Amino acid sequence: MKEIKLFTIKETSCYGEEPTTTSCCAPETINESTCCSSPEVTVEKPEQKQFNLDLPVAIIGAGPVGLAAAAHLTIQKVPFIVFESGENVGHNILKWQHVQLFSPWQYDIDKAARQLLEETDWESPQDNILPTGKELVDQYLVPLSTLPVLKEAIRYNSKVISISRQQNDKMKSLHREKQPFEIYVERNHEIEIVEARAIIDATGTWGNPNPSTSNGVWLNSEKQCENHIEYGIPDITKSVKRYADKTVAVVGGGHSAINTLLELADLQKEFPETKLIWILRKKNVEDAYGGEEKDALEARGALGSKIHSLVDSGKVQVYTPFYTMQVKSMNGQMELAGRYEGEMTIIKEIDELIVNAGNRPDFSIEQELRLSIDPATESIAALAPLIDPNEHSCGTVRAHGEEILRQPEQGLYIVGMKSYGRAPTFLMATGYEQVRSITAYLAGDIEASKRVELDLPETGVCSVNLQNPKEESSCSTNSCS
Ligand SMILES: Cc1cc2nc3c(=O)[nH]c(=O)nc-3n(C[C@H](O)[C@H](O)[C@H](O)COP(=O)(O)OP(=O)(O)OC[C@H]3O[C@@H](n4cnc5c(N)ncnc54)[C@H](O)[C@@H]3O)c2cc1C
Repeated sequence: MKEIKLFTIKETSCYGEEPTTTSCCAPETINESTCCSSPEVTVEKPEQKQFNLDLPVAIIGAGPVGLAAAAHLTIQKVPFIVFESGENVGHNILKWQHVQLFSPWQYDIDKAARQLLEETDWESPQDNILPTGKELVDQYLVPLSTLPVLKEAIRYNSKVISISRQQNDKMKSLHREKQPFEIYVERNHEIEIVEARAIIDATGTWGNPNPSTSNGVWLNSEKQCENHIEYGIPDITKSVKRYADKTVAVVGGGHSAINTLLELADLQKEFPETKLIWILRKKNVEDAYGGEEKDALEARGALGSKIHSLVDSGKVQVYTPFYTMQVKSMNGQMELAGRYEGEMTIIKEIDELIVNAGNRPDFSIEQELRLSIDPATESIAALAPLIDPNEHSCGTVRAHGEEILRQPEQGLYIVGMKSYGRAPTFLMATGYEQVRSITAYLAGDIEASKRVELDLPETGVCSVNLQNPKEESSCSTNSCS
């Protein structure tokens, strides 16, 4: 049993100064001459009354979207605290740090974060360059997180394990919205309970992969093969021994699977005995190539073109549509059973399996809060019609903000990758707009929260099935990331 330590954070000051009123940063006082006054902020009564304004806003997750929220709150002069389960910022991104992004720096840096960074000697990366995951962390997230105001607010190695309302479990309604949130944070084998006025959950989905099975069911037989299965995009150059001259199967039809296969193809050039198998469930393999040269994100289009040539070269054996039913170990190797062209088929003698079947959100921390989640995409319910890959191609999402992201639990917002649930089309720029709007709302600037300030490239050519998007599109099963 872990020791429970009650640790309540009550902000006593705004950035080091003693507050002049007890409701410092309250929307009502925003234009008065308190430490939080800001000439740009329009005074408006929030649509929903906000409570516990002396408490900080809690941001969970120090990825790009969580940190963007922190940057906006800094500018809005709203006290906040950030919990990050990893020991550094961009903890999830560092797991795919070798992968090059397909959106250039221009779309990867949040406006408020840029404003704060430009007040220092930070050197802005060139707009048109495509960073790798590591460059995104080193050249942007680390400098942002070490700005004094963010540095003192971020708590690393602090995993949020649950959130509730003070004195109220999920069932209780009376004065619910007036009660502060209680956040249970695991740190150094102790549990701390921290109070907050609002929650911005930016925990992403990266640590919670889908299994290899087409119906999404996690089987023990798959778990038992864990030493020979990787989920995500492994850095093949760092695992040469593991993959060289082996039979490697890649499951998935999105850009993550394509990235993995292209890296394996490089290994195959050096180790020609390496056998590559690509298992996907698209009607035709061509559907995975995406818009190619028509994709407004050039790098993403190029990925499609490269995999197209690799498949044409015959260096990868393709099974599609293959509906995986089970992975199990067999004589020191693995077998993959499924339906292929309507017949039960077993793909035998697989040494290593790499599953790129996308990720799913984990709502366990919100179990005691009232959520509205779409039954299909597991995204924020109001967001689903905008992003459902059964209806949309990649990138055809309208900008959206606080109103769309509002939950039945007042003061709770799920943002970033997690707000899209299983839908694979999330872009950082969309997340930056989400938190711009939410933080404006929390600062009492309702007009700004309703404004749309998103500038996204037109990326609606991710799928070649645009004329018939209800057929399985290139985004519908796996990550387009
Ligand atoms: C390979 C790949 C390439 C991509 N390329 C692009 C691209 O080119 N352009 C683009 O716009 N988008 C891209 N994306 C999509 C998306 O923008 C990124 O995944 C981005 O990292 C999402 O940001 P986030 O802040 O929502 O979540 P994450 O970056 O996943 O951050 C979540 C953070 O929360 C922390 N956390 C998780 N659980 C807890 C907890 N319980 N308590 C405390 N902390 C917790 C994690 O450690 C992590 O640091 C790509 C995604 C992938 C996987």
